[in-house]
Amino acid sequence: MTDAFEVMMDALDRTEEALAKPAKHTPGPWEIRDGSFIDAPGMTCLANVRGAHVTDQSECQANAKLIAAAPDMAEALKAIAKHEPCKAQAFCRCVACDMSRLARIALEKAGV
Ligand SMILES: [Zn+2]
Repeated sequence: MTDAFEVMMDALDRTEEALAKPAKHTPGPWEIRDGSFIDAPGMTCLANVRGAHVTDQSECQANAKLIAAAPDMAEALKAIAKHEPCKAQAFCRCVACDMSRLARIALEKAGV
């Protein structure tokens, strides 16, 4: 095996463990307030996307939408990641297995 392959397989193994654990992030739904603040249930200003470096209103709104959708996207990725690998090959390359691996890598990157 290559080093890159081993690193990816280690990440997939860690994500398998993480999928079984409750989420560590603030529970959703997250909502956008005033175009740049992200609120969570019982919590105002979980995040503010307007800052010194991002002042364009449309970019702020796009960033706010992406962040506010994060809990929903994490749940969608978890559902995809739970796909059981095909047993036909040791490292199956079918679409379902590829999507599951991509979902697991994204969840690992997000710490979910
Ligand atoms: Zn497969």
